[in-house]
Amino acid sequence: MKSMYRSTDDLIHVVPLNDLREHETSIACWCHPTPDEEEPCVIIHNALDQREKYESGELREH
Ligand SMILES: [Zn+2]
Repeated sequence: MKSMYRSTDDLIHVVPLNDLREHETSIACWCHPTPDEEEPCVIIHNALDQREKYESGELREH
């Protein structure tokens, strides 16, 4: 399940709900969000439980 937020720079962030870690509505989010291929103003965030897709060594706990 996902939720959508509009950030101050007018991008739409699609963020996984109930993820293990809170997301920022920013392209600088810890999950390395990427723009949607068809809608570049839509930023897709990655769930923490899919972290094998990218390097997790720099992730920090709160
Ligand atoms: Zn994120």
